[in-house]
Amino acid sequence: MKVIVLGSGIIGTASAWFLNKAGHDVSVIDRQPGAALETSFANGCQISVSHATPWANKTAPMTIFKSLGKEDAPLLYRFRAEWLQWKWGMNFLRECTPTRTVHNIRQIVAIAEYSRQTLQAVRTEVGMDYDCLTRGILHFYTNQKDFDESLASAAVMRELGCPRTPMSAEEAVKLEPALAQIRGQIVGADFTETDESGDIYKFTTALASKAQERGVHFQFNTTVTRLITEGSGSSARINAVEVINAQGFHQTLHADAFVMAMGSFSVPILKPLGIDLMIYPGKGYSATYPILNPELAPSVSLIDDGYKLVLSRLGSKLRVAGTCEFNGYTRELNATRCAAITRRTRELFPDACDYEHPDYWAGLRPLTPSNVPYIGKTKFSNLFLNTGHGSLGWTMGCGSGRAIADIVSGLHPEVDFAFTGMTLRKNKGAISMPISPNKHTA
Ligand SMILES: Cc1cc2nc3c(=O)[nH]c(=O)nc-3n(C[C@H](O)[C@H](O)[C@H](O)COP(=O)(O)OP(=O)(O)OC[C@H]3O[C@@H](n4cnc5c(N)ncnc54)[C@H](O)[C@@H]3O)c2cc1C
Repeated sequence: MKVIVLGSGIIGTASAWFLNKAGHDVSVIDRQPGAALETSFANGCQISVSHATPWANKTAPMTIFKSLGKEDAPLLYRFRAEWLQWKWGMNFLRECTPTRTVHNIRQIVAIAEYSRQTLQAVRTEVGMDYDCLTRGILHFYTNQKDFDESLASAAVMRELGCPRTPMSAEEAVKLEPALAQIRGQIVGADFTETDESGDIYKFTTALASKAQERGVHFQFNTTVTRLITEGSGSSARINAVEVINAQGFHQTLHADAFVMAMGSFSVPILKPLGIDLMIYPGKGYSATYPILNPELAPSVSLIDDGYKLVLSRLGSKLRVAGTCEFNGYTRELNATRCAAITRRTRELFPDACDYEHPDYWAGLRPLTPSNVPYIGKTKFSNLFLNTGHGSLGWTMGCGSGRAIADIVSGLHPEVDFAFTGMTLRKNKGAISMPISPNKHTA
């Protein structure tokens, strides 16, 4: 079957890889000159299955309310005259009840755990260097109330089989001596030894080149403008995708099936087809610093709970990422927010890095209110979704790619997850968790 994948971030590239392995003739379209040049470019780099909790929880509304108008707040909602933003916000509030939070955690952990296993299998098979570190993730807290509250979600994670171990400040510093400088601030921590980190850009571009070697065709510098439909009712399908190619000409590309993997930009392309995805761009920032003193820089991937920052060592660099701003599709860098990241990193590891030469970057997380992505079918028989991975696209990427390749091939994926437009079915040998159906429909 000829399949066109729209988007070559981690999600589109992983989809193309597994579709090719399933025997399909695959092309990938992206407006950028290469793979992984938008949200999958410079993120926090954590494969954080055991910390894969949704942002929508009972404390979130107050956190957002308190941060209103604070330029350097980790979570900043800038109200706009934009229906999608308000509708998304209302849906987000609905996902903050304890019942919905537990439901969403189960969904996310199921696909994230499957994804980590899939990622490990891919790197063994392909053999690639992407600054991968398998030393776990250490989440440290500087506020007693937040730490106490975290114990409940850690317990839910443990029930789901995620080994999340609470720790004292002393134990945390013993595990990561680079934290000694701020020992006095830490009130507690938890450690998940099976989590990992690695450079998403290096991984995705390496996977794209391996896919190219296997015959996947990447058409870069090509912008998707619309999907052309035919038929109606149960026989409605996608006939072709219209693009503006690298030479600036309109082109119509035909295929038997289409996979939408354009992150936040999936929304405007699908809306004219009557598919209203609840995805809003959550702008996040990262800063990458050259490491000057390796022994003073962390080598365990970290989460600084108070500042909502994640820190991952990538070879000779330290990547620090986080914060979220709800402000439309702009990727403009806000100097106050950049400075806040550097200020905090310098406070944590004063002599570890060159803080005078940071590389700042911003990307748009394709956020659903529940943090649960859309993976599955649509009302068009040959249009499939793999989008809306929000803050966890790297963690869920390889598994989502493998799952969509199964769905396109007419198989049920190996993981129990509430796939969009599909009924839940347990498989032999599947990663199995008791979940209720996802409310998403498309
Ligand atoms: C600051 C920050 C930190 C993060 N940290 C982590 C982390 O530690 N761990 C984790 O798991 N996740 C993390 N994430 C989330 C993760 O980066 C995303 O979920 C993931 O990159 C999304 O991948 P994607 O392929 O869906 O989107 P993208 O990477 O954005 O890919 C979409 C592709 O579609 C293309 N495209 C868009 N519109 C068009 C068009 N009209 N025509 C053609 N092509 C188009 C784009 O060029 C792009 O290449 C973080 C995100 C941010 C912003």
